[in-house]
Amino acid sequence: MIWQQAPRQALGIFPTPLHPLDNLTARLAGPQIYIKRDDLSGLALGGNKVRKLEFLLGEALQQHADCIITAGAIQSNHCRQTAAAAAKLNLLCYLLLGGEAPPLAQGNLLLDQLFGAKIIWSGEQRKGEGIEALVASLREQGKRPYVIPYGGSDPLGCLGFAAALAELQQQGPVFDEIIFASSSGATQAGLMLAKAALKLDTQLRGIHIDKANHQPQHFTKSIAELANAAAERFALATRFSAEQVCLDDDYLGEGYAILGEAEREAMHLLATSEAILLDPVYTAKAMAGLIARVRQGHYSPQQRILFWHTGGTPAVFAYAQALQS
Ligand SMILES: *Cc1c(COP(=O)(O)O)cnc(C)c1O
Repeated sequence: MIWQQAPRQALGIFPTPLHPLDNLTARLAGPQIYIKRDDLSGLALGGNKVRKLEFLLGEALQQHADCIITAGAIQSNHCRQTAAAAAKLNLLCYLLLGGEAPPLAQGNLLLDQLFGAKIIWSGEQRKGEGIEALVASLREQGKRPYVIPYGGSDPLGCLGFAAALAELQQQGPVFDEIIFASSSGATQAGLMLAKAALKLDTQLRGIHIDKANHQPQHFTKSIAELANAAAERFALATRFSAEQVCLDDDYLGEGYAILGEAEREAMHLLATSEAILLDPVYTAKAMAGLIARVRQGHYSPQQRILFWHTGGTPAVFAYAQALQS
């Protein structure tokens, strides 16, 4: 399979647990809901980026890189997991974070600092617009930087989630639908690739979480392009069109990183029924989408639905105020 062709640096603890959510299923009186626990992926409070980083850093080490650069928002889980992985592999890590230094570092930012990352504040630009200039200046100093794109979403990053679907299949049972938060796209593109390679007919439903990108056609097109670039790079015959990307944008709420009523309800429901923490930015929106779909009667009680928990736990603590209001 394509994900067995690339060098991979072990970073997480896999397979992540898979288990039913019996209390939630009973409370919603809906389909049989299961959860895949990538919040427990083993590196520095977990998350889905560890899967991508195993392949991205596998390539970085193969290229003898001595430092890593990536970018994201102030509470970026991707940046925190990259900083942790770099620490583990003895590589220097540069993070370009949107906004300005806050008076008190909390959540993911606090952890970025603990992992020894060098933080560069980049104001309005939270998607890595300043990376090229940093690469040039590091090269001038004789360093060998390896750049990880926004969210770890490039063809190599997709392999992490292609391998993840194969991992899930080994754990059984067969699911009618898999629901997950979708943002920079490699989670969804990777799952799509493996679904084609393994000939599964599970419905993959990405829940769109970023209103700033609110041009649905544009976003489904870029996920299809990402999947196609990965298919091409790893010699897989399948190709995808934007119409084949199921990206549900009914649950954007008030926008990226804004905790609204639906997200708050999802966090409370999972915490009180299952003692599982959702994060305010991604998984709370995805779960709010699942809850709404169950209530709308989209599923029968016999169906098995998987919620893929993609992590984000440290951000809970950065939202203390919003969670109490
Ligand atoms: C990055 C992230 C996602 C989205 O994954 P993409 O591959 O960027 O679409 C979902 N949930 C959490 C917690 C994340 O950190």
